[in-house]
Amino acid sequence: MVTPSKGLTGMSCPRCGKKTRITRSSEPTLGTFERERKCPDGHTFRTFEEVRTATLKEVGVRAGGDGAALPTVHPLSPARLQEELARAAFFSGVGDQLEIREITTEAVARILRGEGIRLQIADREEILAVRRSLRQVHPSVRFTVRDTDIIDLIDSVMEDHERLRMPRVLYALVFAGRNDREGRKGWDRAEQFLVWLHKSFQTLDQDIPLRVATPRALFWRIGTIAPDSYPSRVIKRRFSSKRGPAPSRNDSRIADFNFPQYERSVQRFLFARQDAARKAEGVIDFVLTSLAGQDVVTTSQLAFGTLAALRRVDEIAYLRAASTTKRFLDVSSVRDEAVGLLRHPSPRLEFRTKEEWQAGAASAGNDRKGARASTPVMSYLRL
Ligand SMILES: [Zn+2]
Repeated sequence: MVTPSKGLTGMSCPRCGKKTRITRSSEPTLGTFERERKCPDGHTFRTFEEVRTATLKEVGVRAGGDGAALPTVHPLSPARLQEELARAAFFSGVGDQLEIREITTEAVARILRGEGIRLQIADREEILAVRRSLRQVHPSVRFTVRDTDIIDLIDSVMEDHERLRMPRVLYALVFAGRNDREGRKGWDRAEQFLVWLHKSFQTLDQDIPLRVATPRALFWRIGTIAPDSYPSRVIKRRFSSKRGPAPSRNDSRIADFNFPQYERSVQRFLFARQDAARKAEGVIDFVLTSLAGQDVVTTSQLAFGTLAALRRVDEIAYLRAASTTKRFLDVSSVRDEAVGLLRHPSPRLEFRTKEEWQAGAASAGNDRKGARASTPVMSYLRL
């Protein structure tokens, strides 16, 4: 029961016309609700009312962290949400288009009803932001939601479905953990992911071991070899989705090495990560340089090299890549992989461009700190 308003309301009694007061009211949670009203003369009547839901056009999404000086507001877009879910589904390999549409539809419906999410009345600044971005004189946005709240809402929609456990984890690794926005913390390391994972899946072993001291960092100069030294052909093993006899020679085929495709896959693993462009460039350069001199490589060599490099560069991107490449089907495998990062951390790998490298070497003579920063590559793996 909602506490009835004590004062006389504007609604007048249909029999005598006097102002009435609300004596009873049902919870207005399910859209429609019922109220009982009484006038001073004791006439009683009931009204059925509906909480008005917002329309798509009226809701703006406020992006970014709190640090931004000017708010960025874009209209709520189901297509955009669907795209973001598809991005996470890419890593899980299980969410199909229909499922993604269903989650989006449910999430949008909840947003419009303000269910499990706070619809705030848009303030002047936010309306101006919409006007700027849409170039509309009179934008129809009346409410705003924070994009981080939408991420939480989608998480809770997925929480209701047992079969969406893995997609839920991968969605979190992409969006809840993103650390490329100013004013938003995100996750930098495996520990932060584990805290979220344990809170979200309480049946998992909740122990987070202490991280073993990370071995010394390795510096890599990007652009050591020319692209014409990249491998030109790749042997692909065909995977069968069903368990069967061991793969024979016929299960392999040879294809041209597709650099743009490889580049895209590394960039996807690093999507929404801090410094993503440099990290992707560095990982690709590191892996392909390690393969130089091998004209024919296998997809396993590429996968191994990429995982090894990502593990040194960005733990959250690594967990996405490991879950996909190793085809994890259950959440505990991701947990084990994250715990492995604490028990057996890889040496950090940091990238320098040719110019940065030279600047470091120039200052090395008169500055000890500079000397350390310009420590040449000690070794790298031949993959
Ligand atoms: Zn009356």
